[in-house]
Order: sequence, then C-alpha cells, then structure tokens
Amino acid sequence: MPAAPTRSLQVITGVAAMRAAVRELERGGETVGFVPTMGALHEGHLSLVDAAAAECDRVVASIFVNPTQFGPSEDFTKYPRPLERDLDLLRGRGCELAFVPEAAEMYPDGYGTSIDVGPVAVPWEGAARPGHFAGVATVVLKLFECVPADRAYFGRKDYQQTLVVRRMAADLNLPIDVRVCPIVRDADGLALSSRNVYLSPDERRRALALSQSLRLAEEIISGGERDALVVRERMLALIASVGGVGVEYVAIVRDGTVEEVAEIDGPLTIAVAARVGTTRLIDNVLIG
Ligand code: AMP
Repeated sequence: MPAAPTRSLQVITGVAAMRAAVRELERGGETVGFVPTMGALHEGHLSLVDAAAAECDRVVASIFVNPTQFGPSEDFTKYPRPLERDLDLLRGRGCELAFVPEAAEMYPDGYGTSIDVGPVAVPWEGAARPGHFAGVATVVLKLFECVPADRAYFGRKDYQQTLVVRRMAADLNLPIDVRVCPIVRDADGLALSSRNVYLSPDERRRALALSQSLRLAEEIISGGERDALVVRERMLALIASVGGVGVEYVAIVRDGTVEEVAEIDGPLTIAVAARVGTTRLIDNVLIG
C-alpha cells in the first residue's frame, strides 16, 4: 500500500503528557482513534491504523510489550522490539502520535491491581495461558486511561481478546467505542503475526496448516456438514497430515461468545491454537 502523505509523528513516553495531548486534540473538536500494539508492526497492525485514520481525525498508536500478559515460560524477553522501524511504519500511515510508555511508569513499585473480566476469559486462550487475559484487560484499561480516545481498534486475529476487551468496556461503562477489524494474511493464507519471525522456513510451511484447516472447515460446512465434531476431526486430520504442528485446541463457538456448539447453525467462530516448533500461533475464521 502506498505511503500516505504524512504529518509528523510525535513520540510520547510520559503518561501525563500523553493524556494532555489527546485532551488537547479533543478540545479542538477532533476525534481520536487509538491502536494499542506491542510493536514489531506488520500489515495487520497497520490495517488498524488505516481503519482508525478512515474514521477519526487523528490516530494514536501505542507500542508497549506488556510484561504482565506473558507467562513465566513465554517469550517476553525475546519478543522483537524494532522501535525505529515501527515508528517509520506508523509515520508512513499517517499516525501522528505514538505512545511508548516506560514499564516503570506503567507498573510503579508496589503495583497490585488486576482486572478480572469473568467467564469470557476462562476457556481456550485463558486456559492455555493462565493470567494472560488479566494482563491484557489490565493493560488495555490502563492504556485507555492514558489515551482517552473516542474509538479503539483491535484485530479479529485475537478473537477471544476482542471479547475480553468488549466485555470490560461494557461492564465498566468505558467511554470508548471498541472496533474490531478483519484478519490480515500473507498471500499464502498465514495470518500475520509478530511471532512469525520466529519460524524457520520449514516451520513457516508447516504453520500454513492452521489457515488451511480453517479453510477446510469453511468448505465442508458450506458443503452441508452440520456436526461440529466432524468438522473438528477433519481439521485435526489435516493438521496431523502436515506434521510438526502441536494443536492446543480447536474451538467451534457461537460467534461473539466462547461457548462451544455441537451443531453448525448460525454465525460461528472456529479458532485454532497450535505450536510449530517453539512458536505458539493462533488463527480463526468467522463462519456465516
Ligand atoms: P499485538 O501487537 O500482537 O498485541 O497486536 C496488536 C493488535 O493488532 C491487536 O488488536 C491484534 O489483534 C491486531 N493484529 C495482530 N495481527 C493481526 C492480523 N494479522 N490482522 C489483523 N489484526 C491483527
């Protein structure tokens, strides 16, 4: 996509300065769209910046690798942090403010507060990654406080995360409109992810099993299959035939919920999580 003509990008690290900058824009009558990220930006993130720019006068993106959403054996320390490149990418898409907070200010000494959004955070990703959604909900609420925008943009790639954020925004009457945007994929179907850089060429080829299994599910459902167990088994068989992909779960749920269905009927989301080598990947598709 061609680079948009840019205004300059202001990088803000302080919480008070960030809040003041957004309030100043809003006093001037401008609407503000917010895109929270952990950086290592790709076209998936940038599609959220584009969506924000299309709907709002100004776009703010945050880059913060949030320690509290990583488990003790996860990839927090090795998570990629190409900050200068990220800022160039944001600049090229017309983002004018980047919030890059310091961990010491986000989590001051003695930090103890945590947000529990309840049942929507329990199964699937919640079960596979204990504490993950408490970390996500807490940092998103904190970021919403730092960047008091009109709208916030999230990707459907993290399906359950979008449910967690929407639940929290509704439950806590947050004055922000949560928007959810489609998954951006590479040409061969692999969902873009900052973690794809961990994959060797062989692992990347095997990782295609995730999106291929979701496409197979779409095909057999549009061909008339109504039994969720059958769909799940066919997906697992396809993934097993590729080899080297350790499935953590295949969830066939009513869309907008985490509730598993037995019968294919009405809008569904099919979500899959798997390990390829040491890299954990997730993907999903909306059916109907
Ligand atoms: P992350 O930096 O992984 O925390 O992601 C920041 C935001 O970008 C989240 O709302 C993600 O769901 C979204 N995102 C990540 N990958 C994609 C993708 N392939 N397509 C669309 N959105 C994405």
